[in-house]
Order: sequence, then C-alpha cells, then structure tokens
Amino acid sequence: MNMTDHPPEGTVQGGEPGSPPAVSAPANTAAEERPGVVHSIFTMRCPECRRGKVFANLFLKMNPTCPVCGLKFEREPGYFLGAMYFSYAMAIPPLTAMTLLQKWRSPERSMASCIVVSALVFIPLVVPIVRFSRVLWLHFDRFFDPQDRQTPASKSN
Ligand SMILES: [Zn+2]
Repeated sequence: MNMTDHPPEGTVQGGEPGSPPAVSAPANTAAEERPGVVHSIFTMRCPECRRGKVFANLFLKMNPTCPVCGLKFEREPGYFLGAMYFSYAMAIPPLTAMTLLQKWRSPERSMASCIVVSALVFIPLVVPIVRFSRVLWLHFDRFFDPQDRQTPASKSN
C-alpha cells in the first residue's frame, strides 16, 4: 500500500501498469474478413459469404442454399442458363485452337474430322467448365444485382 508513491505530474513514465484490461482490441477482424473474390471463385464458394461451397459433390450437384450464410443459389427457374455465356466463352476458344492446330499439322484431314477429334478430346473438360461457369455466373449476377427480388404479392396488379 504505497498510496504516496505516485510520480509527480509531468514526468514521463513508460506505461500505466494499473490500466484496465477492458481495452477494445480489434485483433481478429482480419481473420473474420471474407476471402477474396478471385479465391472464392476458384474454390467455388458462395458469392455472398465466400465461404460456403456452391457444389455438394465433385460432379454437378449443387447445394440449393449456401451451407454457411443460407443464400439461395438458384434465384429463379432457369437461372443457370446465364452460365452458358461463360461456358461458351471457356469452351469455344480451346475447341477452335485444337481444331485449327490439327488442321495445321495435317492439312490433308477434313475439317469435320478435326472438329470431331477436338470435341472428343474436350469431353473430360465439360464438367469442370460447367461447374466453373455456374460459379462465375453466380458471382457475376450477384455483383451486378445483389438484391433478391421481392415477391410481387405486395404490389398491386
Ligand atoms: Zn454464403
């Protein structure tokens, strides 16, 4: 009990040893942040929380909602038709390149046979491209249209 041991005012001490421990510390906010959008696209995660898996298996079975934040992935019937734009964009350039490469290496072959061979070689890539195109579509659509549409029940017809 040294009640008379206070330093004189004006002297600079190192730190207050008796400071209360209830100081707010934003220490683990960085760990709680959402992963980056590119990372979440390549790991096929939810566009909202970027943590929940979009697909339920390694094939094309999708989770109906995000297992982490509950976001409904398929907003409306036929929603994933929009993913076709991305799948075409991913499929047509390599198919064209494979076909032209075959034609260039063996010009005597018909263009039709080059296209058929390219399509056969391309078959194993169909599932990865469809998966990736759906994730891209989800992120694209949610980026430009983040609000879920309200049901028109409250509106007058
Ligand atoms: Zn989510």
